Amino acid sequence: MVGDILNGSCLCGDVEYQVRAPFLRFAHCHCSRCRKATGTGYATNLYVSPDHFEWTSGRDFVVRYDLPTAASFSTTFCRNCGSPLPHHTRSGREIVVPAGSLEEVPRHELQGHIFWDSRAEWTTANDKLPKYSEMPDWW
Ligand SMILES: [Zn+2]
Ligand SMILES: [Zn+2]
Repeated sequence: MVGDILNGSCLCGDVEYQVRAPFLRFAHCHCSRCRKATGTGYATNLYVSPDHFEWTSGRDFVVRYDLPTAASFSTTFCRNCGSPLPHHTRSGREIVVPAGSLEEVPRHELQGHIFWDSRAEWTTANDKLPKYSEMPDWW
């Protein structure tokens, strides 16, 4: 179905990937680490299991950073253009896909705003989606 197979890429286009449904979660995260890592008010991420993800080109340009002071926070980016790219969680159980790097729209509902209490004071993301002060129970 439309929205079940999604292509993504970085800004310069050297790195490309593909993800396939089922998608596990789709949410906006306002935590301070996501804000720093993206330089934006919040990160919108889609989650998928590792066997439903593949790099389709430019894998050699992919650089990973595991934040030493965090239990699990990591980022991955293109070495040419710096754009955020998908990465394995440190547990290896899931892939975190920055939704802004996708070409198509996932067939999955946005489930809300997480770490809402950490949001930037200037954020205007006050839509009708559920707000969770930190990580929701269902995560
Ligand atoms: Zn790039
Ligand atoms: Zn976050």
